[in-house]
Amino acid sequence: MARSSELPVPCGAHTRACRVGAPAEACLKAKKSRDDSRLSTLDSLRHGGSSSGGTRALALVLFASMLPAQTLQEAETLWKARRYQDANAVFQKLVAREPRNSTVRVRWGRMFLEHWQADEADRLFNEALELKANDAEAMLGKALVSAELYGGNAADFAQKALRIDPKLVEAQELLARLALEDDNQTKADVEAKKALVLEPNSVQAKAVLATLDWLADKKESPWDPHAAKGYETAGHFFMLNRRYEESVAFYRKALDLDPALDSARSQLGLNLMRLGRDAQAFEQLKTGWDNGFQDDATKNSLTLMESEKNFVTFKTDRTVLKLNKKEADLLHPYIEAEMQRAIAVYEKKYRWKLSEPVKVEVYPDHEDFAVRTLGMPGLGALGVTFGNVIAMDSPSGRPPGSFHWASVMWHEMSHVFTLSMTNFHVPRWFTEGIAVHEETATSPEWGDRLGPDEIAAIKNRQLLPVAELDRGFVHPVNPQQVVVSYFEAGKICDYITEKWGWDTILAMLRDFGASDDTAGVIRKELKVEPADFDRQFLAALEGETKRTVENFDRWKEAVKRVDAALAGRNYDEVIRLGNEVRDLYPDYVEHHSVYEALAKAYLAKGDKAAAVQQWERYVHIGGRDPDTIMLLAKELTAEGNRPEAAAVLERLNYIYPMRTDQHQDLGEILLGQDDARGAIREFQALLAAKPIDMAQAHYDLARAFHLNHQPEDARNELIDAMEIAPGFRPAQKLLLQLSGGEQDEPAIKK
Ligand SMILES: [Zn+2]
Repeated sequence: MARSSELPVPCGAHTRACRVGAPAEACLKAKKSRDDSRLSTLDSLRHGGSSSGGTRALALVLFASMLPAQTLQEAETLWKARRYQDANAVFQKLVAREPRNSTVRVRWGRMFLEHWQADEADRLFNEALELKANDAEAMLGKALVSAELYGGNAADFAQKALRIDPKLVEAQELLARLALEDDNQTKADVEAKKALVLEPNSVQAKAVLATLDWLADKKESPWDPHAAKGYETAGHFFMLNRRYEESVAFYRKALDLDPALDSARSQLGLNLMRLGRDAQAFEQLKTGWDNGFQDDATKNSLTLMESEKNFVTFKTDRTVLKLNKKEADLLHPYIEAEMQRAIAVYEKKYRWKLSEPVKVEVYPDHEDFAVRTLGMPGLGALGVTFGNVIAMDSPSGRPPGSFHWASVMWHEMSHVFTLSMTNFHVPRWFTEGIAVHEETATSPEWGDRLGPDEIAAIKNRQLLPVAELDRGFVHPVNPQQVVVSYFEAGKICDYITEKWGWDTILAMLRDFGASDDTAGVIRKELKVEPADFDRQFLAALEGETKRTVENFDRWKEAVKRVDAALAGRNYDEVIRLGNEVRDLYPDYVEHHSVYEALAKAYLAKGDKAAAVQQWERYVHIGGRDPDTIMLLAKELTAEGNRPEAAAVLERLNYIYPMRTDQHQDLGEILLGQDDARGAIREFQALLAAKPIDMAQAHYDLARAFHLNHQPEDARNELIDAMEIAPGFRPAQKLLLQLSGGEQDEPAIKK
């Protein structure tokens, strides 16, 4: 009963997000390090503890206490020399001596921010603001922390700082940077020029203006900052725009001017890793690390590269597939076949031929995947595309049923096409919109369903105008906005495809490739003003979702009652109420779905046919729970409906191929249907999934080989079976049959 209050469990942020290269959903990440010892060092010093700083820390504190009165200047000098621990000790003293001085806390916070400890920095800025509510520098600190974490309120803080101190150039520079991160080029230009009014030599303002030129493929820019930190900023924006080769070139340029700029070196290493150049990446990251640049991204990336030995790579002429050794045998056939199918379908659909093979890397440990993508663990995304390299979670790395690996793979693969077709000029919202559109275009059962976050956003009219949709990905005001932005972008692409046709999508891609902006492309290809497009699209979307949006609260209330009735075994009530409300929100196939409740009630009343009907609806709408899917398959098999049972099990392979029973059952059905190749695939998967009865699995595979006229392979499997179970009669029998039948069966059909 109590569980019903947990309803509904949204498919939510963690199942939705995909990323194209840039740290769009970095706000989702829970900052988490694999090894917090380094992080806690400064922390314990700050609080005067000695937990991990050890004797050295204690010595530093003692040493500091023997010094004469310390000054902020001393702390700053030590900090600039990267003697963080020493600087920290001085800051500690200063704060103890001047507890009401907000400036000391702000500067201390800035050091923490530079030392990759944004949380600690934020606390210090908050303390400073408690001491002095109108401390512009503290407000700027808040803005920088928020920007660092890609939070949605960085601009608000920066503007507040500027209201307090209109000459605070760093806040103005930040506004320019944030605007460009949102891909709002006009605003970035305006904000950067305001910064130049405050400080004509502002490197960061010039870097933003120059980057605008460079992003538009102008070779020269009058704003070229000719400064290492300026090129570092350009590298950042090319990374955000997924233009990794150019990003790498800018970081190299920065390092040529200032080899000690290890923040740029670390980013250079991460981008080289994204491009799959692991040896070069390792060299840069290791150099940075040895120089003392030891942020989490650097550390985790080095750790990940050292774990390469756990992976194995499979190559064909079009595909490269990297899998963890422990699951490679099981996943290899499924994922490689799907990669080839997706490439073939998309080459026709996008009328675009890929010049290089596509690489897919599959990570069973989600934290490894997150490191691979951002350099940080804790990312909410499931897949990410860097040019022709896709990294994604393994189906084994997520709770069964929460992740549709094939849908994610097709989604990412479409990025490979839209990125290469536009030479990486496609805006975030459009590449994501197409990718989400492709999930359901591939199969109507794939893709994510209308979730509670999307319903709320439609109801509260929180969808973004199309021309500003990138903001929802890059600087979301909350994690839900990312999820909703994916949904909205996908629906926009559905809408354009329905109303203008797929060719219009291709024309838009060509325009974006020629550096046109969203508003211009909408006007040119759809022949409407962006604001009119928003109105038309919203009207269509609201019409399509009206029933669910209007009845959502009623449905939610009713589902709680359905759940309670089920727990109380009041099956008649489950059936009455469930049937009444199920179709008010037919897309809901997560935990506590009405379909599953109804099926349970029908089963309890002995009406199997009605239960099967509910499960059928559930899987066709997109329900993914492996247990429910297996129940349906078993029931269909028992009824003798083997083709449908096979289809249901094939469906499960696309969601969660890790169980043994699904491969056993599907192999058996396919064998019965004389589909020898299908049966071989399934029984090989069964063996790779390591079932309890290995002898039976070898025997099953032998039967499939036998059916496919591969007597040698069949014989080897039978020998394996009998080595495990010497008295295994069916295996003995088939072996005899194979040995005796050889002369009778000389022709091997292929
Ligand atoms: Zn995506």
